[in-house]
Amino acid sequence: MTVYRQWFCNCHGLPQQLDSEVLYDQEATEPACKHCGATPLSDPKKTISFRDQEEWDD
Ligand SMILES: [Zn+2]
Repeated sequence: MTVYRQWFCNCHGLPQQLDSEVLYDQEATEPACKHCGATPLSDPKKTISFRDQEEWDD
């Protein structure tokens, strides 16, 4: 089972999923909102939220 963390930004009223790239064997690049630039670590307006998705491979 793999857990994916999906990040969202609510700056436009509706949650928009952030683009993020997870590279195997490397640290994930930090997702950033393409509208307001907020990231999970830089979220001055508190618009960032996340949801964990479980994926079962078998
Ligand atoms: Zn945003």
